[in-house]
Amino acid sequence: MTKSNFELEMKKLESKGIISRAQFLQIMAAAGAFITLGTDKAYAAKSNAKAKIVIIGGGAAGISMAAQLLRKLANPDITIIDPSERQYYQPGFTLISGGVYEADDVWKPQAECMPKGVKWVKDIVTLVHPTLNKVDTAKSGTIAYDYLVVAPGVKYDWSRIEGITYDTIGTGNAHTIYDHRGAQMTWQAMQEFSKQGGKGVFCDTWTKHKCGGAPKKVSLLTWDNCRKQGTTDNIDMHYYTASKQLYNVPHFTPRLEEIYRERNIPVDVNCRLKGIDTEAKRAYFERVETDAEGNKITTPFNESYDFMHFMVPQCAPDFVRESGLSWTEGSLAADGWVMVDKHSLIHTTYPNILSLGDCAGIPTSKTSAAVRKQLPIAVENLIAMMEGRTPEAHYDGYAACPIVTDYGHVLMCEFDYDKKAQISFPLSLLDMSKEQWVAWLLKVYALKPIYFNLMLKGLY
Ligand SMILES: Cc1cc2nc3c(=O)[nH]c(=O)nc-3n(C[C@H](O)[C@H](O)[C@H](O)COP(=O)(O)OP(=O)(O)OC[C@H]3O[C@@H](n4cnc5c(N)ncnc54)[C@H](O)[C@@H]3O)c2cc1C
Repeated sequence: MTKSNFELEMKKLESKGIISRAQFLQIMAAAGAFITLGTDKAYAAKSNAKAKIVIIGGGAAGISMAAQLLRKLANPDITIIDPSERQYYQPGFTLISGGVYEADDVWKPQAECMPKGVKWVKDIVTLVHPTLNKVDTAKSGTIAYDYLVVAPGVKYDWSRIEGITYDTIGTGNAHTIYDHRGAQMTWQAMQEFSKQGGKGVFCDTWTKHKCGGAPKKVSLLTWDNCRKQGTTDNIDMHYYTASKQLYNVPHFTPRLEEIYRERNIPVDVNCRLKGIDTEAKRAYFERVETDAEGNKITTPFNESYDFMHFMVPQCAPDFVRESGLSWTEGSLAADGWVMVDKHSLIHTTYPNILSLGDCAGIPTSKTSAAVRKQLPIAVENLIAMMEGRTPEAHYDGYAACPIVTDYGHVLMCEFDYDKKAQISFPLSLLDMSKEQWVAWLLKVYALKPIYFNLMLKGLY
């Protein structure tokens, strides 16, 4: 959707009386600010630096990086290696699970999204040889590079949850929206639960994971569907988080906790989902706590459910660790995330390797909103190195997570490495510590077209 199409959509809502004139202007200001912020990049002077750039992964990070580089380099030589047929707008999975989007609203053929001027090798990278500057692929042999961008996203590690696999998503009414098909099944299950009532169990996972807000959104949309059906008296919903608290960005946490309290959804912390007995409809957890002496105490417990939404543990794709690109110590080592400096996004051992997006080993929230802010940093630092300059661009950890709290409201959480709120203009004109209707409109109507039409084209 272009800006003018978006404006037409908004005008239709205004003429139907769904939004007021003031709200129309607010939304257009927000959309305009987002769009203008991006498009000026297209007019920057081009660099004459030359190098062979290989990008692993053609998702939000890989394609947008290539698209921005194409706009900034006079003689680009860029190869993207990615096996996918489809480009998914993954934040839309939540809206499929809530019945707001149709399944086909969130994807485009990958061939349409590949920027003109890049070489697309439709294959999987199996190993990187960082001292030899080349990568091995499954079918296309070895590909050499001068600079490498590692952006293959996450691997879902199904082996760390017993009793359910990728192929059995949905069995025993246990669902996950971290998959396109899973999101569709979740919507079916959510509707049935909302009509019949019962016990709903919702949880996240203990590894670093993409969009920590998504499981919360599923629980809150489920509750709101029950409200619409008039069944809230017949439900018993429970949220289990593996974290120490429901949300750890102080500006937003009080209101989010309040919403769970208002809706009678108890939140249990430090709880890790270890398995699901899909036949008995029972979820197996471990409560992991630390006693006064610092000893780790693990207490297993289990809960029956009628409808369950879970998240799969996540890690870097295997080749990252096998290639010696991962952190070897610290909290990011366990799951193999790429060892890059959190500000420059440059590998700490191999300076001709950068990483951004979900696979990067940096302490931020894994979201495409974070990718959007990492992009100009990675691009600027890569070009600086190609030109023989010192890479000085600095990523501050910005990430955003629009937590859908009901049909019509979103708590738009934007923050940095220090967990300080970093509200984008013009949302900063509103009280963003509370859920807002304008943020819902941005989430539902603006962010997807911005993704496909601006971000993936290097314009945002
Ligand atoms: C349910 C859900 C809800 C979300 N909600 C939001 C939200 O509201 N807001 C938000 O900002 N973000 C959200 N996100 C997160 C967002 O989608 C990701 O942060 C973003 O897609 C990360 O981009 P990426 O390029 O790192 O990874 P991806 O977009 O996942 O792309 C990775 C690419 O790498 C390729 N690849 C993998 N392995 C290899 C290999 N070995 N060789 C070659 N290619 C490979 C894959 O095929 C894929 O194309 C959500 C995600 C999910 C799943």
